[in-house]
Amino acid sequence: MRLKAILCKGPESIVVGEIGEPKAAAHEVIVEPLYGSICGSDIAICGFHGKKYPGIDPSPDNPVVLGHEWSGVYDGRLVSAGCTLGCHGQAIYPPCPSCTIGREDQCYNRKRIGFEVQGAFSERMAFPISLLFNVPEGLDAKAASQTEPLSVAVNAVKYLGKVDGGKTVLVWGAGPIGFYVMQYAKVMGSNRIFVVDIAEYRLRMAERLGASRTFNPRKEDPVSLIKEETEGAGVDVAFECTGYAPAFNRVIEASRRMGTVVIVSIYGESLIIEHPFREMTDKGLTIKNARLGPADSVRLALKSLAEGSVKPVITHEFDMDEAERAFTVAANPDRYESVKVVIKLG
Ligand SMILES: [Zn+2]
Ligand SMILES: [Zn+2]
Repeated sequence: MRLKAILCKGPESIVVGEIGEPKAAAHEVIVEPLYGSICGSDIAICGFHGKKYPGIDPSPDNPVVLGHEWSGVYDGRLVSAGCTLGCHGQAIYPPCPSCTIGREDQCYNRKRIGFEVQGAFSERMAFPISLLFNVPEGLDAKAASQTEPLSVAVNAVKYLGKVDGGKTVLVWGAGPIGFYVMQYAKVMGSNRIFVVDIAEYRLRMAERLGASRTFNPRKEDPVSLIKEETEGAGVDVAFECTGYAPAFNRVIEASRRMGTVVIVSIYGESLIIEHPFREMTDKGLTIKNARLGPADSVRLALKSLAEGSVKPVITHEFDMDEAERAFTVAANPDRYESVKVVIKLG
């Protein structure tokens, strides 16, 4: 039987096409995705605005079945998951050194749905049963589609940034990941959270979601204002969430001595550390890099969504047949005031 799926066939070529029935290996089951959520990585894979995603090169002969943020049904239950297939998710034994310590996000054999293997924007998909999480009672399928992006934020905030109640936090870049980082910093107890972005609608949204203060670099100098707010010291933990390499330098300037900077960005250009390099070393900053999230961050993401301590930042919803339109809206956030765009798959 042929199944409907959203395929990328090259730059800005999004097609609702057909794929073959997925086959489940011994460690996998067949799941039926209900909601999919479009990520910045999907936009890059699909080559919008001339972007490229390293290592993934879709073409008409070799299309990518997109989708790594999703919720769906297995065995009559609502389920969700992360996107990373580490050693356990691929039945590779013995597991690699990263998977041995529970860091599937850094697996030496890593594969991801919607990147190297079939994604979730389809009617059915094979998925490792050990990586499926039950969606808690009271959380609907649409909100549960935000599990994976929130799990990235959980990893960045809890495990890497080690945010707690005593820490001041800066989130530079209020895209979907920035919003989830900001909200999870609140979950971890921080009550001083500064958010920087160039779009006013995103700053207003950050305020509604609990930011202490927001700054627009097109109108003011966030670094000097953050210094004023922190008695000249700077913030304890800063998250760079723009994907815009020059912002990294501003984040360094806004950090306090012995502070931590977590990069939650994928830079499509060279990261040039300007004169703040001296500042970075002089201040003894710790720089960490966040990509994906281990299985435990997926569990915590579902918990926060179910409790309501993190609100989904979904602004638009489309049907599967409107996939092309959905991608246009997601790829042009300022034109449509979009944050997260979801697609109803089932
Ligand atoms: Zn993603
Ligand atoms: Zn591994």
